[in-house]
Amino acid sequence: MYLKKLELNGFKSFAQKTELDFKSKISSIVGPNGSGKSNVAESFRFVLGEQSMKNMRGKKGEDLIFSGKNGRSNRGSVKVVFDNRDRTLNIDYDEVVIERIVYRDGNNEYLINGTRVRAKDVLELLTSANIGASGHHIISQGEADKILSISPKERKGVIEEALGLKAFVIKKNESERKLERTDENLKEVRTRERVNAPRIRFLKKEVEKIQRAEELRRELEGLYANFLPGKKEVEERLQRTNLEIEERERARKVLEEKISQKRKDLYESKNSLNSDEQKRAEIEKINGERRRMEEEKNALQKELARNELLMEEERAREQAFLAQKEKVEENLKIYREKRERIKSLIFNKIREYFRGEENLLEELAGEILNFFGIRESGIEKENFDPELIKRKEEENKVLEEKIKNADEILESLSKKIRILNSDSEDAGEVMSREIEIEILKLEKSLGLLNSEISQLNNLKFKLERELENYKREENWALSFFGHDKLNYFLNNDNYNPEMNILEKITRLRILLENTQVGNGEEILKEYEELLERQAFINREIEDLEKTKEELLKLIEEISQKIEVRFREGVEKINREFSAFFSTLFSGGKAEIFLVNVPLKKTDEDEMQEYELGIDLRVSLPNKKISGLSMLSGGERSLTSIALLFAMSSITPPPFIILDETDAALDEANSKRYGDMIEKLAEHSQLILITHNRETMSRAGLLYGVTMDQSGMSKLLSVSFEEGQQYAK
Ligand code: ATP
Repeated sequence: MYLKKLELNGFKSFAQKTELDFKSKISSIVGPNGSGKSNVAESFRFVLGEQSMKNMRGKKGEDLIFSGKNGRSNRGSVKVVFDNRDRTLNIDYDEVVIERIVYRDGNNEYLINGTRVRAKDVLELLTSANIGASGHHIISQGEADKILSISPKERKGVIEEALGLKAFVIKKNESERKLERTDENLKEVRTRERVNAPRIRFLKKEVEKIQRAEELRRELEGLYANFLPGKKEVEERLQRTNLEIEERERARKVLEEKISQKRKDLYESKNSLNSDEQKRAEIEKINGERRRMEEEKNALQKELARNELLMEEERAREQAFLAQKEKVEENLKIYREKRERIKSLIFNKIREYFRGEENLLEELAGEILNFFGIRESGIEKENFDPELIKRKEEENKVLEEKIKNADEILESLSKKIRILNSDSEDAGEVMSREIEIEILKLEKSLGLLNSEISQLNNLKFKLERELENYKREENWALSFFGHDKLNYFLNNDNYNPEMNILEKITRLRILLENTQVGNGEEILKEYEELLERQAFINREIEDLEKTKEELLKLIEEISQKIEVRFREGVEKINREFSAFFSTLFSGGKAEIFLVNVPLKKTDEDEMQEYELGIDLRVSLPNKKISGLSMLSGGERSLTSIALLFAMSSITPPPFIILDETDAALDEANSKRYGDMIEKLAEHSQLILITHNRETMSRAGLLYGVTMDQSGMSKLLSVSFEEGQQYAK
């Protein structure tokens, strides 16, 4: 890279367009005091993006624009032209023109090859060529020993930049800022995660409750489907029982009337059987009675036979059921043995996994058997009615007694006819006795009937209780499962109630009532949404943690690189520094070194913190000095020059501008300084503002700056002889 040209227009004292061509490795700018030489150095700072007005000896932007006795410029501009064929500047142009313009309102414009850009873009472009913002390659007037007076931390910054590490430092700082932001984000996201967690835990429990309730509901549904259809049968049985009671009550009425009739007959029999006529009528009446009795007996016998038949059928069904039950139980036993074997097989193989998971294990074993088509078969519905057999047995006992009673009445009626036909004198008496016997028999029948009725009433009471249970559960099922489900329950023909089903229903119902939660759908929705959100947050945390890790790695890498290069650079600088120093002082020693500078400690700080800085120590030949403060002004500037030159020789900047850095040098040192400049010029272009003859003699090109009466600076090429008139 090569500095080709500088163009000033309206900048400070350069009212008119002024061009400086840097055709030589060393150019010198000479001229009387106050003619505007330093303004040239400042124009470099300006165009390279300097943001500090103080560094350009101004207070505001306007101070940089020409303002003279006879007029003023509206804008001040400086252009610098680089030959970039070697692409030192990271931009794909052979020639790069950087321009900065300042306006009276303080606004600035930056252009790279005529395109408007930001100040940042200019700084970035220049950093890549080691001519960055700190301007270590531009030493202003009176700043020759600045490098000695700044703080160790600032000195470290200048050296970092001189070593070309600024780009890394910027990257490191950027990464550290990113890391800070990442940490903040992480904190914020973790807070969100923590805020959600208890709600999720709560909702999880609620969802488990909902699922449990759902299970209970399903179980209860199954139970209702097996219980409620029984209602119809109970209703029918109740209806039948009521009819039977009515029928028995009618029979009782008839019997009671009969008994009272017999009582009348008994009263009349003593005096009403005197004539044959009366006897015949009586015989007819008794015959009628006998026929009816026969019919009654017949009916009883038929009922008895029918009951026997029913009982026989029911017993056959019972036998079949018991046989099937035995078989099913045998199968069940085999099934369970198989399942146990599988369970212990699994348990022995993967033990640890199923510890305390008995149900899971059993389910798994069941699944395996199911896979091979082996199922746990249950006993089918009990298709016989043990109650019926019992009831019919009881009924038959009564029927048999009734038949016996009917036989006895029939016997007594036959006897009465025989007596009436025998013409016996005391027929009335005998008849009365028979009637008394009959009354006794009828009363016995009445007793049987009464006990039947009371038994039926007991049954009725029991059935009514049962029906009440059905109705209660029906209402409950309606409110819980709705109309359609209830209809399905009531009309399910495949029902098969198990033992104690009602107790199970009641227990489940209570459980269900206790597990009720709020709006299940909403809770599920909220739970799912929250889970999703939490998953998203977790992904965010993961991403941020990954970013953080990467940043930490990057920072570590950059820090390492900076540290290694910095230490190496310091070593190299020290070698050069020592050499330059002993050249200038004809001996002695100088070095820079890293120091830990304690940071200001506040009362709350527990630990003292340090930052790194660069300090330097020198020893002069034949002098004993214990610190930089003991150096004379000349010695200070010589030391600085040695250090600045050492720095510049390690990573040479494309150009160096030195504004009267040689001001304090005596003749001997001026010579040495001149030698060093020539050495520096091997790697960097030099622009030297000077009053020093020796320095001027080293330049290949001399520019003279003068200022006319109107306060405008003028520039012209001068010869060495012309230049010397401005030498001190
Ligand atoms: P020396 O040899 O004494 O260091 P120099 O040649 O470096 O002097 P400068 O400091 O560059 O001189 O020039 C200072 C001159 O520039 C002053 O006379 C000052 O009035 C003039 N100057 C500074 N800013 C402006 C401006 N905005 N408009 C006009 N003139 C200006």
